[in-house]
Amino acid sequence: MALEGRALWREAPGETPVWVDGTWTWEDGRLHRVTGPGEGRDRDEAVPACWIVPGMVDVHCHIGIGPSGPVGREEQERQALADRDSGVLAVRDCGVPVDDSWVQGRPDLPVLVRSGRHIARPKRYTRGLAVELEDPGDLPGEVLRQARAGDGWVKLVGDWIDRAGGAESDLDPLWPREILRDAVAAAHEEGARVAVHCFSHRVVDDLLEAGVDDIEHGTGMDDDQMAEAAARGVMVTPTLVQVELFGSFADQAGRRYPRYAATMRAMHRERRAHAERLFGSGVWILPGMDAGGYQPHGELARELALWSRAGMSPDRILAHATWRARDALRVDSLQEGARADLLVLDSDPTADPGALARPRAVVLGGRVVVGG
Ligand SMILES: [Zn+2]
Repeated sequence: MALEGRALWREAPGETPVWVDGTWTWEDGRLHRVTGPGEGRDRDEAVPACWIVPGMVDVHCHIGIGPSGPVGREEQERQALADRDSGVLAVRDCGVPVDDSWVQGRPDLPVLVRSGRHIARPKRYTRGLAVELEDPGDLPGEVLRQARAGDGWVKLVGDWIDRAGGAESDLDPLWPREILRDAVAAAHEEGARVAVHCFSHRVVDDLLEAGVDDIEHGTGMDDDQMAEAAARGVMVTPTLVQVELFGSFADQAGRRYPRYAATMRAMHRERRAHAERLFGSGVWILPGMDAGGYQPHGELARELALWSRAGMSPDRILAHATWRARDALRVDSLQEGARADLLVLDSDPTADPGALARPRAVVLGGRVVVGG
C-alpha cells in the first residue's frame, strides 16, 4: 500500500509538523516515507492527490457511559466504532464506571487512554458514575488508587450543585484547596496527570493553585484565570457542544434550584463570547465532546464546527484536533516509524475545517477501516 499526497509530517516528536509532498507506505502498522530521486521536495506547486493528517483525538469521550448510565461491552464497542469511523483514532475516556481496558486489546478500535473512575463526594455528581468519598480527606489516597489503575490520567469532579442548600443551592467546589493540592501532588508523584470537571467560576482558582493539568468545560474561567492557565501550561477542554445544553439543564432545575439555574443560564448566554476569549487567551485547547451521557459518540465534527463559529482559524482547529491533542495524550503523530493512524482528506483542511468531518479514508494501525 502506497499513498501519495501532502502529509502533515514531522521528523521528530516535539517538532511542529509541516506539509510535505511525497509518498508514504506502512509495514506492520508503522509509517515510512518513501523518498527517491526527484522526491523529497517540500510542498509542490501542483494540487496534491490528497491531504494526509494524523487521526483526530477526543479527550473527553466516555466509552462505557450511555444516556442512562454505565453500559456493557457490546455498547462500548459500538461507541468506540462510531468514534473510529468519524476519524477519531485516539480517545481519553475521562472517567468511566466500567472496565473498558479490553478495548486496548483490539487493534481495530481507537487507541484508548484510561482515566479510571470519576472521583466525587456523595450526591455531588451524576448518580452511579463516580467513586464517592464521604471524607474529602481520602482524596489523595483515592487519586493514587485511580492513578495506578489508569493510563496516566485521573478525573476529579471539581464542582457540582450542592443540593443541601435548598433554593439557595448553586455550583460549589467539592474539595478544600489544601486537600486538592495534596491530591494533585500525589498524582504527579505517581506520574499521572489530573483532569477536573469544572463549570463554575469559584472553583477555578483552587484548581490553578492546586496545579491541575487539565480543566474540563471551564465555562466559569475569567480572563485572569485564562491567562494564568496559559502561563502554567494548563490545558482546557471546552466541550462547547455540552455547554449548548446549559439552558436545558437550567430549565430542568429551575423550580427547585433557581440560583443554580440562574448561574447556568448566565454561562449559556455568554457561551460564544466566552469561547472567543478562551481561544484568544493562549490556553492549550483540547478537543472533547463529552460523548456518552448527553452526547452521542462519533460526532466530534460538531464540536469543531462550534470552535469555528467562535473564531478559531482552520489551521488551529486542525492542529488542536489532531497533532497537538495527540501530543497531550503522548500518542504519536505522523513521523517515520510512527503508528499509521491517519486520515486521507479530499480537500485542504487549512482552508476548510469541514474537510475533517468527511475523510475519504481512515487508517488505523495500518489497516484501512473506512474508505478504499
Ligand atoms: Zn464527562
